[in-house]
Amino acid sequence: MIYIGVDLGGTNIAVGLVDEEGKILLKGSTPTLLERGPEPIIQDMGKLALELLEKGGYTIDDVASIGVGVPGVTNPETGVISFCTNLRWHNVPLTEILSKIIDKPIYIENDATVAALAESVAGVSKGLKNSIFLTLGTGVGGGIIIDGKIYAGTHHVGSELGHMTINVEGIRCTCGNVGCWEQYSSATALIRMGREAAEANPDCLIAKLVGGDLSKIEAKTVIDAAREKDPVAEKVYAKYIYYLAMGIVALINAFDPELFALGGGVSKAGDFLLEPLREEVKKYIFYKDLPYARIELAALGNDAGIIGAAMLGK
Ligand SMILES: [Zn+2]
Repeated sequence: MIYIGVDLGGTNIAVGLVDEEGKILLKGSTPTLLERGPEPIIQDMGKLALELLEKGGYTIDDVASIGVGVPGVTNPETGVISFCTNLRWHNVPLTEILSKIIDKPIYIENDATVAALAESVAGVSKGLKNSIFLTLGTGVGGGIIIDGKIYAGTHHVGSELGHMTINVEGIRCTCGNVGCWEQYSSATALIRMGREAAEANPDCLIAKLVGGDLSKIEAKTVIDAAREKDPVAEKVYAKYIYYLAMGIVALINAFDPELFALGGGVSKAGDFLLEPLREEVKKYIFYKDLPYARIELAALGNDAGIIGAAMLGK
């Protein structure tokens, strides 16, 4: 059987046909064009899926189910997207709209949770019972797998890991609380910290790499400057690693997973992220004599959204 996976993003809708093992057989994408509102966007998901089936020589009878990963809070029982802040969607009956185009079982889930599932089916945490996926991008997204299954909590908002408070006197988060983890450990946070440091130290390499235009600082700018051993950038990056480690240690204390899979823009730093992060986490581990979670890079990249969504039905 074939599983259809849909990755709904603010810019593109990506759809893929996925086999039983989580391998993508065929994929395609179309612009989201957000201003159209939910209904035509959801119809496009179905149309693109049907096009792919035809292109691949499959029929609707080959399809077991269709899964959709969305950047927000979902209610998998009712098939309603409760809200997507970035898309500005509230209470969108996704299953109802999509089932008019494809009459198959439809599953919806948060996109970070979907990526966690993908990694546990076909990626770095394949075969492990308990793992946590973290995406270090605009915010910090989290997905929790327990006993090989998605854990999303009683009310389906249980993996908002980026909004764990790690600094009770910290800075204000977009969610309204203060000191949320993503204000310290997202790519956005690294950019902010890099910019603040460059404002205070105009001669540092971070400022030089952007020709003095601090609005051009990206996470990569800070990381590149730290790689070059610029003292200001090294200090910022060490602080970033420290905050990231503190959140991971909190999650180890709560869940004791076998592995953390890191994705998102900052994870592109590779070993330059993993090595100091593992060292930092080690310092704060509670049970020092026992083994604890490995920290690795996620393996599936952008395909995780399609694969995980498809695997929701398996
Ligand atoms: Zn928050």
